[in-house]
Formats: sequence, C-alpha cells, structure tokens
Amino acid sequence: MQATEGALVLLSGGQDSATCLAWALDRFARVETLGFAYGQRHLVELSCRAALRDGMAALDAGWSARLGPDHTLALDALGQISDTALTREAEITLGAGGLPNTFVPGRNLLFLTFAAALSTRRTLRHLVGGMCETDYSGYPDCRDDTIKALQVAINLGLDARHVLHTPLMWLDKADTWRLAERLGGPALVGLIRDESHSCYLGDRTHRHDWGYGCGTCPACALRRDGWARYRPRDQDGAHA
Ligand code: ZN
Repeated sequence: MQATEGALVLLSGGQDSATCLAWALDRFARVETLGFAYGQRHLVELSCRAALRDGMAALDAGWSARLGPDHTLALDALGQISDTALTREAEITLGAGGLPNTFVPGRNLLFLTFAAALSTRRTLRHLVGGMCETDYSGYPDCRDDTIKALQVAINLGLDARHVLHTPLMWLDKADTWRLAERLGGPALVGLIRDESHSCYLGDRTHRHDWGYGCGTCPACALRRDGWARYRPRDQDGAHA
C-alpha cells in the first residue's frame, strides 16, 4: 500500500469500476470516488454507487477509514454531442468498425481529464479507472496506449505527476471476479454481484447467478460469460 498517497477512483457503478474501488482501498491511504452524470438513459448504474461504497466500508474497517468523499460531476454536454443507445431510446446495434452504438465518442478521455482536474484540487495523485483491453467492445479510449498517452498529456497540461492506474487492463471478466475474490473474499464478490450494474437496458428486475440484468444485451452477455468462467467454488447464494 502507498501509505501516504491518495487516489480518485472513477466509479460508474459497474462491475469493473466497483472492483477498481476495492483495489484502491487495498492500496492507498485515502480514496475518493467520482461519478459522471451525462444524460445516460438509465440512471440505475449511478444509483448503485452508494450501495457499493457503503457495502465496501462495511466489509473492512480499514477500507472504511480510507474511504473519503464521493463526487459527482454533471457532463450534460456529453449527452448533447452523443447520439448513442446509452443516451437516447435506440436499439443497440453494431456500427462501422464493429463498435456498438453504446459508444460515447471520447468518453474516457473527457472523464479522465475532468478527474485529473478534480484530483489536483483534492490533492489526490493517483487516478484509477476500469478501462480494459481484454474483454471489451472495441472502444479505442479504453486502450492501454490511449491511457498512457493521456497520462503524459495530463501531466504536461497540469504540470503534475499524476499516475493513471488501470488494474483491469489485461484481465478478462473472469479474472476481474477473481481479483475481487482476492481483495475481499466471497463477501466482496457477493456485494459486487448484487449491487453493481452492467446491463445496457437498465434492467434491475431479472436476477441471475451473475447479478441483475436483461441477460441478452452485450454487457449482460460479457458479464454472464465471465461469471460462468469464474464459477466461485463455495459462495453463499452464488448458484441460486
Ligand atoms: Zn442487459
């Protein structure tokens, strides 16, 4: 653990960012969280954030002591300039280049830049995000090279020494569950399974062994397949 340094975690409320929050709580002396409201069609993911924060604080006294304030920033302009299935009523389809129309162009570039500006004010050196190149939908702003280049740009532009961490970059969704188990045992796996949200359709009514969701959209399919490959050995309710 970097005992004296602080981190800002981009917490959307999904499985990946929830795992990143636990990873940061395991490592840094102070951890704050940041969420963005940008006109998402489904606010359910954002509403999962408090349950995940509270749940992790309840799991571990050390984590509770390190967990600092939550921040939310409204980025309405991102919704205005996007024409995607996340921000308006539309079918999720694959567009040119195989990118689903759930892609909000440049979303992570903007998120990380805003996060860096906030972390400067909060004196948090480390930024943590759930970007991943392994099980992803081809979003170019999730790529490792993009994040590395952005770290350079941010540090030049802010005259700072921020470190951008992407602990899931080379993990697939099964590995991400395994990381959660390593960080917080079956209790953390259960918390993330039940309180994080991935479904593109915002479905919180259908419960599966891998959590809530419609079960058919691309995000649910990724999550379901990852859970099937992870298969926790002895977890209360895991196979209910
Ligand atoms: Zn779904």
